[in-house]
Amino acid sequence: RLAVSALHKRFGGLVAVKSLDFALYPGEILGLIGPNGSGKSTVMQMIMGVVRPTAGRIVLDGADIAGRPVFEIARAGVGIVFQHSRPLRLQTVIENILLGLLPDRIDGLRPPPGAVDRARIIAEECGLGAVLDRLPATLPFADLRRMELAKAIARDPRVVLIDEPFAGLTRAEVQDFSALISRFRDQGRAVMLVDHNVKSIASLADRVLALYLGEKIAEGSPEAVMRNETVRRVYIGGG
Ligand code: ATP
Ligand code: MG
Repeated sequence: RLAVSALHKRFGGLVAVKSLDFALYPGEILGLIGPNGSGKSTVMQMIMGVVRPTAGRIVLDGADIAGRPVFEIARAGVGIVFQHSRPLRLQTVIENILLGLLPDRIDGLRPPPGAVDRARIIAEECGLGAVLDRLPATLPFADLRRMELAKAIARDPRVVLIDEPFAGLTRAEVQDFSALISRFRDQGRAVMLVDHNVKSIASLADRVLALYLGEKIAEGSPEAVMRNETVRRVYIGGG
């Protein structure tokens, strides 16, 4: 389980995340929502080790990972899907996924035993079975996103963070991705989705946490959060 407590981030005079507490449990999908600038990405970046918290704790299964380097957090079992994918352009799909399986100290770029088989299984699980040997530039956008999902779960992480899971996808693709993300949950992973809008993740998330100007303004079932007065004012009334 991931437990965040009194998490705080200041950029100069700006408080981007303010004394935030929440937990993320295995086998659950938590939606982190909020309008532009509410601190969603900063929270995600602190968990993955890209941004150092000003204060607070990020405890993963008993160990505080706040401020630890990225590779250490990845090794501790956190997988990330960034909002913008940046695949290696000269590597095929399967090679890109294999990168997620390389040891931390790269030793002649040799994948560990079994890595190729594992990469193939994950690729197929993520719907990439037919495009393993294609280059990223030749893939439709949805397949690039599938590749990011595959990279994120390559090391079998216990926690998976996905920024804007549905941005740029068609309705049918959204269905597909929802099924895939539900499967991650059913495999016992703790999944956190980041989105602007509670509606786009309402059918998928078990629980939703709403941020506004760095502060938690609501937490609960998607239905309860959608009904919440403050959430409605900030997202609907406030534009
Ligand atoms: P969006 O929906 O636009 O992605 P967000 O909820 O992800 O927004 P953040 O990117 O976390 O919001 O930003 C929260 C606040 O912190 C914003 O006011 C932003 O301008 C500020 N901020 C983020 N990163 C930095 C940085 N590196 N330096 C200074 N200010 C930053
Ligand atoms: Mg963001």
